[in-house]
Amino acid sequence: MPKINHNIQRVGTGFASFLSPPGPEVIRFTVGQPDFATPAKIVQSAKDSLDRGETAYTRTQGSPELCSAVSRHLEKHDITIPAQDIVIAPGCKQAVLYAMMATLNPDDEVLLLAPAWPSYDGMLKLLGAVPIHVPVNRENYHPNFENLENAVSSKTKAIIVNSPNNPTGAVYTPEEIEKLVKFAEKHDLWIIDDMIYATLVWEDYGYTSPSLVDGGAERTITIGGWSKGWAMTGWRLGWIGGPTELMDAVKKVNASAATHVATFLMPAAVTALSLEEETKEMADSFHRRRDVIHKLLDDLPGVSVPKPEGAFYALCDISGTGMTDVEFATRALQEAKVQLIPGSLMQGGEGLVRISYATSMENIHEGVRRLNEWLSNL
Ligand code: PLP
Repeated sequence: MPKINHNIQRVGTGFASFLSPPGPEVIRFTVGQPDFATPAKIVQSAKDSLDRGETAYTRTQGSPELCSAVSRHLEKHDITIPAQDIVIAPGCKQAVLYAMMATLNPDDEVLLLAPAWPSYDGMLKLLGAVPIHVPVNRENYHPNFENLENAVSSKTKAIIVNSPNNPTGAVYTPEEIEKLVKFAEKHDLWIIDDMIYATLVWEDYGYTSPSLVDGGAERTITIGGWSKGWAMTGWRLGWIGGPTELMDAVKKVNASAATHVATFLMPAAVTALSLEEETKEMADSFHRRRDVIHKLLDDLPGVSVPKPEGAFYALCDISGTGMTDVEFATRALQEAKVQLIPGSLMQGGEGLVRISYATSMENIHEGVRRLNEWLSNL
């Protein structure tokens, strides 16, 4: 057989090894997707589009209506990106890949605030770029600027910002976003801003776009999607927007890689962005679960948890139990019948386990009760 791309062997498998569906007796705190069905109006909109026969090729960038709807949605976060500088991609994940393909060359270094969502690491390695994992502050999972300064080299080309964050649940303050932009400006870096969880914030300050800070708009690539806030993970829809010159490059990447997302999904994506009540109900529900799970987890013996500020993850420090995170997750599955993600699947996540609280209140109570019983009897 001829040789395959040598970058592939450096690409990890993310959370896969701890995500395999266990038996029904296990409570899963692993799955990073809303436990809601996609709102009915969105589904109906896709059906109507199919009934109208909208199944042919269309505008590669995304329909004008959808690009305008995304532009208007971004205005709610005070972000100004005209519709012509927006591209619709098959998922936020692929939009992140587009941003990397449009900005990076092999051996370029990219700063990740560690522990980071493992797909960033995989994508960078796939492209022959180099992920540099920069530890965040352990007590609150917010950026550590000294660590960032120490990690910059002449090869650093970009920094990825993801706030609200997976896996930490941290939401960076407006002051921190300002400092991140000043840091990026000083070292002339792109800011790849993954705002996929922007509508899921539990603090009194909201998601802050780096593009709002002076000097930020010209270097910020704004990326998001429908998966988390609209319960549309399987629809594979995301957006990417930024400065015109960069977006001309992204348009070439998208036209070469995907042509466009499914034509009949575009009206549904427009409908989704027009909904308020349905998305607020889902967000409020996650907020209530955050309040409950944080209190329960923090009472576990040997476990401490900074208050999750957004998204639907709680990242627990389990080092007080004397176990490694892999041991903790393996034994929790076997002995307490609770499935968790061990932090060391991500660089910088050693001693931590990630809990997704995108599951029922009943599961939250029962899952933490089982962990409590297990840990108390060790
Ligand atoms: N970005 C982050 C930080 C995520 O956690 C995820 C999914 O877990 C994604 C992007 C993927 O989004 P999508 O389903 O739109 O590709």
